[in-house]
Amino acid sequence: MPTVTILGGGYAGIRATRRVAEKLDKAWNIQLVDRGVEHQLITRLPEIVGGTLDPSRCLIPYMRLVAKRVQLIRAHVITISPSLRQVETSIGTLTADSMLVALGGTANCAGIEGAERHALPVRSVDNALEIHRRVQFCLVAQEEVRVVIIGGGYTATEVAGALIEWRRGLERARTGKTLAVTIVNDVDRLLPAGNQRLAEVAERVLSDKGVAVRHRAPVTQVETNEVRAGDVSFPADIVIWAARSRASPCVDDAHWQLGPEGRVVVDNYLRSSYEGVYVAGDAALAYDYARDVPTAASAQLAVQEGQIAGENMAADILGKPRVEFRPGVLGEALLLGGHSGVAELAGVVLTGRAALATKHGALIRYLARAGGPRLAADYG
Ligand SMILES: Cc1cc2nc3c(=O)[nH]c(=O)nc-3n(C[C@H](O)[C@H](O)[C@H](O)COP(=O)(O)OP(=O)(O)OC[C@H]3O[C@@H](n4cnc5c(N)ncnc54)[C@H](O)[C@@H]3O)c2cc1C
Repeated sequence: MPTVTILGGGYAGIRATRRVAEKLDKAWNIQLVDRGVEHQLITRLPEIVGGTLDPSRCLIPYMRLVAKRVQLIRAHVITISPSLRQVETSIGTLTADSMLVALGGTANCAGIEGAERHALPVRSVDNALEIHRRVQFCLVAQEEVRVVIIGGGYTATEVAGALIEWRRGLERARTGKTLAVTIVNDVDRLLPAGNQRLAEVAERVLSDKGVAVRHRAPVTQVETNEVRAGDVSFPADIVIWAARSRASPCVDDAHWQLGPEGRVVVDNYLRSSYEGVYVAGDAALAYDYARDVPTAASAQLAVQEGQIAGENMAADILGKPRVEFRPGVLGEALLLGGHSGVAELAGVVLTGRAALATKHGALIRYLARAGGPRLAADYG
């Protein structure tokens, strides 16, 4: 039976799987390969870190997202041979007639001494839970727990907001315990890839709540109880890595063109340089021709890329014309803990409940499209 194989059941992979299953008849075997059995709502990890969201609300069984005919394969992808459309996995070799690589990204601490060992990444539900538990553990023994977050992007900003809200809870409950939250950022503003006004508002909200933000402090070393940025030292009980990331290392060994952050360069149909092999999401480096910039790694764009990759994989098989990928960024929204948030929609910056509603609206739209109103009600 001819086979379409989708590697990775994240934002890009799920959307592509659904699209392929809608387009191809049952003569085609559709495989979804992932190391887990649940789709993870990565965008909600900061809420798990802060303890305001039960992890089960971020884990959606694949069975609820894809058609019954999709063969779910639980396996670790080890290496990819795109010229053969073959994948080595923890359960053996898979060969496909058409393949999508949507394995996402991972933390990239390369070049910073001690970071891999001592800094905790925030890339999965397990990572987020680990951070939450470590903070809880330290709070048992210490009155003040010092958390240093390395990075100044969306993840760092939202994680800082979640932790500072936790501190407010500790203080309101008069536990005698507190958290000291510091962001150590290498450039001169938060959210360097985003709207400047949004970044200013986010920084003001966090600073007012008590987050210490240090800019222009490129981290050089991470130790058990300290983050160093040149001569400056930041004492830390817990260090969180929310800075650079890179594409899944599974794409490294194939002979395709890799761009910044190890992302596979794709054309405007999201094809790699190998026939029948598409790449989407954080693993892909697509180009936004309208704005003349490479696309950012975001869930919003991963979903759009998954849609187009799925469409084009089916089009190749059915002998239909492919569609071009034209990214559309609707805006951005960040939770900053409690009722605080900041969002930007069509150039307008929103704060407070309006921003929270924007963020929640995006989640509901995503869930409703991925699995209908029932899924949105269960996980929204
Ligand atoms: C804390 C945090 C908050 C974020 N918030 C936002 C936000 O608010 N808005 C936004 O647009 N973006 C946000 N992002 C970015 C967004 O989450 C990513 O861009 C998005 O998840 C990329 O989607 P993807 O499908 O490429 O990869 P992923 O969603 O990461 O999915 C990759 C899938 O591949 C699987 N996989 C990986 N390696 C292997 C392997 N070797 N074998 C088998 N399976 C494997 C994983 O299990 C996973 O299911 C956030 C990111 C983080 C870390």
